[in-house]
Order: sequence, then structure tokens, then C-alpha cells
Amino acid sequence: MSMQVGEVIKKLMMLGVMATINQDLDFDTASLVATEFGVTVQELPPEEDPTEIAEIEDDPASLVLRPPVVTVMGHVDHGKTSLLDAIRQTHVTTQEAGGITQHIGAYKVTCQGKKIVFLDTPGHEAFTAMRARGAQVTDIAILVVAADDGVMPQTIEAINHAKSANVPIIVAINKIDREGASPDRVKQQLSDHGLVPEDWGGDAIMVPVSAHKKTGINELLEMILLVAEMQEIKANPNRQAFGTIIEAKLDKGRGPVATVLVQKGTLHIGDSIIAGTAYGKVRAMINDRGEKVKKAGPSTPVEVLGLADVPQAGDDLVAVDEKIARAVAEKRIAKRRTDELMQSQKVSLDDLFKQIQDGNIKDLNIVIKADVQGSVEALRQSLLALNNGNAEVRVNIVHAGVGTINESDVMLASASNALIIGFNVRPDANSRKAATAEKVDIRMYRIIYEALNDVEAAMTGMLAPTFKEVIQGRVEIRQIFTISKVIIAGAYVLEGKIFNSSQVRVIRDGIVVHEGALESLRRFKDDVKEVAAGYECGVTVDNFRDLKEGDILEVFTMEQIKPKG
Ligand code: GDP
Repeated sequence: MSMQVGEVIKKLMMLGVMATINQDLDFDTASLVATEFGVTVQELPPEEDPTEIAEIEDDPASLVLRPPVVTVMGHVDHGKTSLLDAIRQTHVTTQEAGGITQHIGAYKVTCQGKKIVFLDTPGHEAFTAMRARGAQVTDIAILVVAADDGVMPQTIEAINHAKSANVPIIVAINKIDREGASPDRVKQQLSDHGLVPEDWGGDAIMVPVSAHKKTGINELLEMILLVAEMQEIKANPNRQAFGTIIEAKLDKGRGPVATVLVQKGTLHIGDSIIAGTAYGKVRAMINDRGEKVKKAGPSTPVEVLGLADVPQAGDDLVAVDEKIARAVAEKRIAKRRTDELMQSQKVSLDDLFKQIQDGNIKDLNIVIKADVQGSVEALRQSLLALNNGNAEVRVNIVHAGVGTINESDVMLASASNALIIGFNVRPDANSRKAATAEKVDIRMYRIIYEALNDVEAAMTGMLAPTFKEVIQGRVEIRQIFTISKVIIAGAYVLEGKIFNSSQVRVIRDGIVVHEGALESLRRFKDDVKEVAAGYECGVTVDNFRDLKEGDILEVFTMEQIKPKG
């Protein structure tokens, strides 16, 4: 503006802003000052992220109804797969395609002339794994509950996973043909978990079905259509395609094959596309009936051939100019490399306070797992009580359940930026791996008070340096024998190492039954300092005589760590 710096600073002072010569001003202040000097200011568009493809804003007038996309969830053996099969058998008109239905990860059915898309991988694990990758494809969740078995742990998990994703739930009370089926008991149990059926004055839709007898299937589909209508599920079909990768694999003959659920726009043969770090041109598309198609509109699952690489499930697929596709893919590959080096940490107790102060965190999301329901409730109540008198951050329990910390807990924590608090339970090997990969903080406690203390201290930045345990190895107890009145466990080191100085935790079915020091460690008849993976050893645990075959010893040591921030 050819102005002296002093002049500008003086004007700013008059506006009540004490600025220094090299201070950044926000746009509003800058334009105010400029106007004082008779200059108009224009804001530059924000810098574009070279690894992102700008989203197309759809004019609301361009949106038309699209079929809802449905995921089936529920406890194991409650009939998810059977229900999907029953729906497919009763509602896919096969004569057009000579009776062949393809497995491509999703399929379309017709009910009352309207279409519904079902994702063919039932369970909340797949659902949440996608969400952890930033993809949300499900519009409606069907919660299958067996009428003879009732609400079980994974039923509750599924409810919480769907709720955390804001996806409406329709309950299918299955196996009503069975003797001992009690739909009312299921309704009662679900009511206790916040799903109150409509006929009891609530707003949860519940449909009695039998996947075996194929009864109630029509009613279920009608309810899906009803909910879809209420939700106004819409998309613009007339634009470049945007979708999500449902499955992808490398096929020997055909090269990379990706099942895509098109969500917006229409995908055509010949379109140039990018999905994750893979790009290419659509060479062929095959629908859920094995037919070749030339185009695929919103809510259409299709197999797409023509990508040069195999993308990952959950990646976005975008139709975009070829040059852009290539450039963005290259930038993404480069970014992935740097990301791997400095992965962004999810919420963790160690730097919680810093994240609160930086304004990154308003809700402290927590997943609770404990050995018994009593502890789950005690933890939940006391953690929520921390909200009284704390305005800066609120504790929010995303899921609470009984049992070992499983992979689905870790994926839920990852998707909802939560930390996991385990009480008298342990993560299994897979969840531990997943937690490392997803950067999920798992905290294990044996005293409720300590868990509360840690969370409260972390919220106020007072978390003292703590000891963090370092897992050294895992050992399986294979045989128990008594030698001159001493009970010795014959064991096998599954992973890592066991040291005679180690601490051990005895785990039976995912529950901690004892924690303490090792008393002796032997190979054959000799005392040894350590035994590595793949070798057998004899162990006795200090003050614990109750080792059983099949027990797992988690071997660890404590290291001091300082909280960051
Ligand atoms: P998923 O683990 O939830 O996918 O459950 P499945 O679909 O594999 O079903 C578990 C078991 O329940 C199988 O033996 C099915 O045959 C049975 N089953 C599923 N639906 C029904 C039903 O409506 N009635 C009866 N009687 N059995 C069913």
C-alpha cells in the first residue's frame, strides 16, 4: 500500500489492536485497516492440499433420491449371513442374468419397485474399519438379534458402533420360528440399551423375521424404504463420480479389481479415476449380477477394472482429469512416506492436556472394557462424574462392555478418536498390533481409582511421570506337573522373550487372573536368565499356584516415561 509501517501500526492501535511489525493479522482486521487507508482487500482462496481433490458442491436442486445403503450387524450366529441370503433369494430377480449372482461385496435388491443396496460383509468390524479410514458408506444399519438368544455383547457393540457413526438402526428380531423365541424379551433388553420399540412408545423400528422361513423379509425391506424416505437420502447423478472402495484385490487374469460403491455422480467406461494412491482408466465395469455395464450411478456397486494398482478398502474413488489423477496419486505416495515417518498420534493421556490447550480436543472419547459388568458400570459412572465442574473437555463414553479388548474396540477407538481403558482385561495379540498401527492409546488398570486419577490428572495437565509397561513376550502354559511337591508349568514361548526378572500377568480367556513376579525360570533342569520365542521352559509364578493349561503369560517390565507437552 506504500505506507509507512508506523502508520499502519498506529491505525491498528486506534482500532485497539496492539500489533508488532511482523505479526500476522486475520482477514477482517487487515481489511478494516486497509479501508482506513482507502484500499480494498480481497481474500485469496485457501491454499489447496495437493493430495486432495476438491469436492464438488452439489446444487440442492440437482439432488435426487438414491437407494439406501444398508449394513447388517449383530452378534455372531444371530443370523446375519442367513438374513442377507434370504433377502437375496427373495428379492433379486435372477432371470435377467441367467440366475447368476456375483459376489462383489454388495448387491442391489428391489422391493415395491424401489432399490436397496446391501453391503455383503456383515458385522460392525468391517463397518468401523471403513470408518477408521474416513469412509462412511452405510445409510442404515440392520441390527440382527436372535429371538431365542437375546441381546449379547456384540449386539451392544453394534449399537454403539452405529450410534457413534450417527447411522439409524432398524432391529430385525430373527429366528422367530424357533421354539423358545421371545421377541418381547429382546424388546425389553433393547429398551434397557436405549432402543425402545415403537409399539412401546419409543422410536426404534423392530421387525420380527425368520431368515429360515423367509418370513418378515418384505416388512423389513419396507421399513428400510420408510427410514430412507424420512432421511431424504439423495445424490446428484449428473456429475463426475465419487465413490468408496468396498473391496479390492489383485486378480491373476484381470489385474487390480476394485468393488466400488458409487455414491455421487455417474461413473462411465473410459473415465479417468483415482482411488487412494492408485489411478487409471475405467476399462470395464461389472455389476452384482455379473453383467457388464457402461455406467453406474449413485448407490450402485460395481467391480471396476482398469486401476494400475490395488487400492485399499475405504479409499475414496474420484473420477477426475487424467493429469490431475496422476499428479495427485504421486503426491499421495510421497505424503504416505512422510506420514509413515511421523504418524499423527490419536488422543492419548500423555499429551491430552496439550491437545486440550491447543483447542484440538473438546470431547475426551473413551472405550471401556472390564472383566465384569459391575466394574464397567462403576468405571462409566465415575468417569462421567469427572464432567461435573470441568468445562474445557467432556468425557464421552463411546462404548463400554465386558470382555477382552478386541480388534473391533481398537477400530472403534481409532474411528472416534478415543482411548481405551481396560480394567482387569487385556488386549489380545491382534488388537495390540492394531492399536500400534492405528496409534490408539490403551490404558490398563487393576484399580478403578487409579484409572480415574490418571484421566483426571491428564485433563488438568497434572499427569505425573508414569511407568509404562513394555511387553517382552507371550508364553503359553502347556502342561502342569508336580516335582517333589513343587508345581511347575511346562510352557512355550510364543513371541518375544521371557526373563527371570520379568513381571508376568496370567491371562485366562482374556481376563487377568493374576499379576506378579516370576519365581523361577528353567530350561530342562537349569535355572536360566532368559528363554526366547520357539523354546520350551518351566516356570513357577510367585504366590500363585493355580496355573492352568492354556493360560497365557504376558511377560513385561516397567519403564519410566515422562508425559509430553
Ligand atoms: P451370523 O454369524 O450372524 O452370520 O449367523 P448365521 O447366518 O451364520 O446363522 C447362525 C445359525 O443360525 C445358522 O445355523 C443358521 O442356520 C441359523 N439361523 C439363522 N437364521 C435363522 C432363523 O431364522 N431360524 C432358525 N431356526 N435358524 C436360523
